[in-house]
Amino acid sequence: MAQWIPPRAEIDDDKMEFGAAEVANENLSMRKRANRKKTCWFCAQKIDAIDYKDINTLRSFVSDRGKILPRRQTGTCAKHQRMLATALERARMLAFLPFSDS
Ligand SMILES: [Zn+2]
Repeated sequence: MAQWIPPRAEIDDDKMEFGAAEVANENLSMRKRANRKKTCWFCAQKIDAIDYKDINTLRSFVSDRGKILPRRQTGTCAKHQRMLATALERARMLAFLPFSDS
């Protein structure tokens, strides 16, 4: 009876970012997802260490409100998403990136 429960933060992220209606819509339209390229940007660039000082790169993986974008949206692979999260946290600590925009 063990049921897989997705991490809470991810669910909240989605709802905040798109709104419930759009999330439901995305779930229904699988066609849209099919044409969307989903390659890990970091793998494509052959990056094996994400630099927390590379703000321009980090910025493109953060929403305009300063939140880390979910993997399913950016196509980043698990390995690089973890590294990205660490790099982003470091960047935040050093005030290169904001914790939140508001
Ligand atoms: Zn990757």
